[in-house]
Amino acid sequence: MNNKPVTSNQPPATNLYNLSFDEMTAFITGLGEPKFRAKQVWEWLYQQYAGSVAEMTNLPKALREKLETAVTLHPFTLVTEQRSSDGQTKKVLFTLPDGNYIETVLMKYEKRRTLCISTQAGCAMGCVFCATGQMGFFRNLTAGEIVAQVLYFARELAETGDHVTNIVLMGMGEPLHNYEETLTAVDRLTAPDAFNLGARKITISTVGLVPAIRRYADEQRQTPLAVSLHAASDEERDKLIPINKRWPIAELMDAIHYYLEKTKRRITFEWALINGENDTVEQAQKLGELLQGLLCHVNLIPLNPTAGYGGTPSSRERVDAFQAELANYGVSSTVRVRRGIDIQAGCGQLRDRIVKEQSKS
Ligand code: SAH
Ligand code: SF4
Repeated sequence: MNNKPVTSNQPPATNLYNLSFDEMTAFITGLGEPKFRAKQVWEWLYQQYAGSVAEMTNLPKALREKLETAVTLHPFTLVTEQRSSDGQTKKVLFTLPDGNYIETVLMKYEKRRTLCISTQAGCAMGCVFCATGQMGFFRNLTAGEIVAQVLYFARELAETGDHVTNIVLMGMGEPLHNYEETLTAVDRLTAPDAFNLGARKITISTVGLVPAIRRYADEQRQTPLAVSLHAASDEERDKLIPINKRWPIAELMDAIHYYLEKTKRRITFEWALINGENDTVEQAQKLGELLQGLLCHVNLIPLNPTAGYGGTPSSRERVDAFQAELANYGVSSTVRVRRGIDIQAGCGQLRDRIVKEQSKS
């Protein structure tokens, strides 16, 4: 009996979005083609949003044939997509060749077309209220897998003359836990000769990895940073965000002060309001004391309930009281309504549902 795993003789197709321009040039010349073909392919990817090699009509047929077998523009497969009842939010679940899942969300709001993209399959940080945290960590995404999520939607929007205006790295995963690949993707998305989205249009959200925030500050990056704080005392934050035990609030705030000094850029704090937990007047006062005088803004988001956590969202009255208390300290905040709640648009929730359905059948 032959117990050997089935293997293919074909090398895995190269995800073209993983290549820098120099790597693309090496790849194309490696196929025996002149250099200028690399520029043509690059333009098909990032200016024309080509969805297939067949569309690259200014390439000779022989090259297209070679590329068809050697490369892919679709490093993942669509599993399911859902639209919110108002039609403004669309969430897709993709499966990667190794069987992992990732989620990407498109949110339309007035003229904005904001994409919420994933940087990892799963997440190692284990925040108790988060569906991705509850599933654990599977692997980092490559830069090309991050970029491909954006091109997927750029292509779709272009069909109606529309385009991506903003990106938030708030899908599955902790972006700064996958620093190299994430920032390579961000560089590609902002490079004028690639996707060319303004750096200020891409927000990186982090749970608060202190050394990575310092590195990010040192690199003087233009992309805005959001920090998921969610609690203003270690006692409370330890309960919600395990990584707080490693880098408690004082250390995190030191890194944030360092970032503000280095970059002079406003920082955003994310705060999921959980009824009776972190929405008390006492927490609001502690937060006010922590942020008073800082160049910052707070986003208050009523908790999106998840299967693995018993917490519930705060009532409107409690949200208002929290916000009013912050204002007493001169700290500005906005209450964000989580759109697409009816399609499990909180990170990790769609994958959760699909995996549960599959295990039932
Ligand atoms: N790992 C990064 C980015 C992905 S999570 C981070 O934690 O910042 C994106 C945002 O969604 C974070 O602010 C996170 O705290 C928040 N979030 C996760 N689960 C949530 C839930 N159930 N309800 C409300 N916000 C949630
Ligand atoms: Fe990871 Fe962010 Fe979810 Fe925490 S909130 S588990 S860091 S994805």
